[in-house]
Amino acid sequence: FSRTQRVALNDDIRVSFEFFPPKNEAMAATLADTIEKLAPLNADFVSVTYGAGGSTREPTQRTLAHVQKQGGMDAAAHITCVGSTRDETDAVIREFAAMGIRRFVALRGDPQTGMGTRYVPHPGGYENAAHLVAGLKAFGDFDISVAAYPEKHPESPDFATDIDMLKRKVDNGAARAITQFFFDNDGYERFVERVRRAGIYVPIVPGILPIHNFRAVSNFAGRCKTHIPAWLAERFEGLENDPQTHALIASAIAAEQVLDLVDRGVRDFHFYTMNRPDLVFAVCRLIGVREEHVDAAA
Ligand code: FAD
Repeated sequence: FSRTQRVALNDDIRVSFEFFPPKNEAMAATLADTIEKLAPLNADFVSVTYGAGGSTREPTQRTLAHVQKQGGMDAAAHITCVGSTRDETDAVIREFAAMGIRRFVALRGDPQTGMGTRYVPHPGGYENAAHLVAGLKAFGDFDISVAAYPEKHPESPDFATDIDMLKRKVDNGAARAITQFFFDNDGYERFVERVRRAGIYVPIVPGILPIHNFRAVSNFAGRCKTHIPAWLAERFEGLENDPQTHALIASAIAAEQVLDLVDRGVRDFHFYTMNRPDLVFAVCRLIGVREEHVDAAA
């Protein structure tokens, strides 16, 4: 218990949450419940994903407005540049800024035909995420996050090339990087060391994906080239028809991962909520992030 008690003393842990725009009314209702449950945790910011090529422009806008209004939270808009002209991307930035958005997560995005399809910059568009960061900064003094890949981006020939791109994004004005999800904390730590050796000093915030559905996460990990360790697969083996045990194992794994990162000195966490509150809420309590009214009563 000593580690848990130590964690309970931390009052310097900051969290952010990521949502995606709901695709139908049932999903919108689930998201509303999720926002209600997570809002009191006083996240640094809450980000809303954006479909590559502008495919979710309006739903993203609606979800951002929802987060601002219902949750009273500081909303960050993801924005991608793949498949769009610079004018089209700039128009979206302007629309988001007009809603009062001051935070962006600047991304290149993947070609719409699938993650395996090779990326080609739009001839009249932002070339990559670094170029997009520069474009955003030209609009205003936004708080900008960018993506980082502890297992390297699948298109990068090596870590040096990948980290060089991260450096360009930071040099152009990104305040932090949020990582692709991962399950190997040693790999994350090695990545942060490489990044620091390259002269990048912004926070490299781990992106934590609680495993609501192991099969879905495995499929997604395959597409993003995130490694699923054998020990992780073994823990979920045979639980396809046992949702209760699956949920217990998932919360234990998320807790282990996050508490271990806290022990390694990590203080900022980004949660891929998948628009579901329970696992994220529980893990936040474990690392000492509490509802505001609970703190006030203590
Ligand atoms: P960049 O930083 O521009 O490039 C990523 C890497 O690709 C670089 O490090 C570079 O090494 C390599 N690379 C780029 N171009 C080339 C090239 N021509 N040849 C060889 N290598 C190259 N996607 C969405 O569509 N919507 C979202 O809302 C979204 N949110 C995300 C949030 C986070 C935190 C993360 C980690 C990812 C998100 N993505 C999202 C996915 C992201 O769009 C993809 O991972 C995309 O493939 C790369 O985007 P980037 O911003 O990292 O690109």
